[in-house]
Amino acid sequence: MHVNRAAKLTAVPGGLSPQALALACCGMLVASQVFAADWPADSKNWFERGPGGGLSILLVVLWWLWIPLWAGCSSWVAKDMGRWNLSATVWPMAMTFPFFLAAVIAWWIPSAIAGLAIMGVAWAVPTFTYVFVRNGRAPNHEKVLTPGHILDCAADALRPMGIKIKRPPKEVKDSLPEVQLADADGTPMMANSEDEAQAAQDAAGLLSIAIAARSMKLMVERNAATATVRQLVDGVWSTPRKPAAQGVFASKKDEEWENVPAPTPKAAAGAVAALERVCRIDVPGKKSRRQGKCVALSDGKKIPLSLEVASSDALERAVVSLQLPIKPLTTITELGVSEKVAEKLQTLLSYDRGLIVLAAAASNGLPTTFDVVVNAADRMVRDFASLEDAHDPPIEIQNVKRCTWDAAGGISPLDALTQAMRSYPQGIVTRDLSDPELAKRLVEMAASDQLVIVSVPATDAIDAVAQLLKLGVSREALSHAVVGVLAGRLLRRLCPRCREAFATPPDLAAKLRVPVERVPQLWRASPIGCRLCRGLGYASRTGIFELAGGENFSKAILKGDRKLLSQAAVKDGMRPLGVAALDMVLAGETSLEERQRVLQKS
Ligand SMILES: [Zn+2]
Repeated sequence: MHVNRAAKLTAVPGGLSPQALALACCGMLVASQVFAADWPADSKNWFERGPGGGLSILLVVLWWLWIPLWAGCSSWVAKDMGRWNLSATVWPMAMTFPFFLAAVIAWWIPSAIAGLAIMGVAWAVPTFTYVFVRNGRAPNHEKVLTPGHILDCAADALRPMGIKIKRPPKEVKDSLPEVQLADADGTPMMANSEDEAQAAQDAAGLLSIAIAARSMKLMVERNAATATVRQLVDGVWSTPRKPAAQGVFASKKDEEWENVPAPTPKAAAGAVAALERVCRIDVPGKKSRRQGKCVALSDGKKIPLSLEVASSDALERAVVSLQLPIKPLTTITELGVSEKVAEKLQTLLSYDRGLIVLAAAASNGLPTTFDVVVNAADRMVRDFASLEDAHDPPIEIQNVKRCTWDAAGGISPLDALTQAMRSYPQGIVTRDLSDPELAKRLVEMAASDQLVIVSVPATDAIDAVAQLLKLGVSREALSHAVVGVLAGRLLRRLCPRCREAFATPPDLAAKLRVPVERVPQLWRASPIGCRLCRGLGYASRTGIFELAGGENFSKAILKGDRKLLSQAAVKDGMRPLGVAALDMVLAGETSLEERQRVLQKS
């Protein structure tokens, strides 16, 4: 009978939850009593029923006290159950219907006290059963209603009143996500032995730290004597960091992070073997290079992993690439382009003809820059065509027609362009321009009557020009065609929470040509770090950009060497990458070291 009622109640139209419905019924029940003529009952024995069958005022208050307690627990269960993979049908039912029935019964059975007791049982049994079941699945530091948890809650509650309770040190894992290895389909890995279980746990531990730090890659290297683990975060390889064991989170000020000690070669080998097992590449007589795919289950999410292992007699190197979800960027300013440059770029994008070149060095966000800039062009009003390699198609941009080339099938990039021109597009876009014939043709078209947007791997705007000339594009055509070259690099932002200020050294200010009075202090990364930056000192990345283009720049292309082009671009209003990076240093958004690191890449 429960099940039938439950089924009906969960199917209430309009998205009402069973809890809300039960609460509404109880409310109506109370209202019917309150508005009855003979209420409040004149009861000398407050624990008995009044003549109308209802409760005395005291009993009504007690009855109502159960309701928030039950509602609070139910909503906690509803939020908590997903984390432990507990049934989303059984637990809400178990939390709702026994209590609902008990609440109704409490109004009608002869002993009002017994009625309230039944409500208590109907609340306590499902709640504590739930706690028992979820604690069975939760790691130690997430268990609830344990002595440690109760002490912790008490300490939190009493601290505002100035009462301090000494807490036991928490586990190191505290702020790291739980990670479980699973095969490519998401089926969790089962260990066949203690050793396998330990190895899987070691691998999951490394992944947990990597995921928390937003790492793109994790590398485990070992030889007979030593092993090292490194992770790639925001384009920089570093040693993984973890919260220091003592006093973490006892107070936020005490938060300290430290390097994770290198594993023993045996532990490193075990962790890599566990990853190979779950990727199903642990075949006998392994090749020296092998790769596979698996999944890390973390907080109910599947994070796809790809594993590449290269081994020789002396050395083994395993690289795990993590596909963490990233928030897509949508506007030019979100890339890190300044308002002024964004405005200028937007004007260029509205031109009927001309060549817009987007440039960045490898792993400096060029595909993202390309997508965002092409998205910012008026694709809805004008027809754009994208020339792409059929074997390596990039993500599709809405309202941009794809025309592909296929070297193996005998379709050249120029053929793709011819195909694209049949529909008379008003804009042609292509990524990573590297085909000389296509480059020459596109630049010619841009010089006459076509808007062309290309991306070119290059270190800066001046280098982008050099790269195009290298493809065989003539100086004259390029000089006529080019309207703007946007070049960018990615730069890490200091963690706003733990960055450290220091007085600007006068000689440094002189070198940077900034008066000390204007920038009395600068900022650097904390060597200790905090929870926000996972101990790394840097918490995110942004782009810095330079936009070259204008009369002087075009003229300089005709004869220009690097220096001349650079001067011409500045004359046309370009703020070079170094200046953009310095602005960020002076604003405390990044460090001098990071500026140095990023600018050196040329
Ligand atoms: Zn920090």
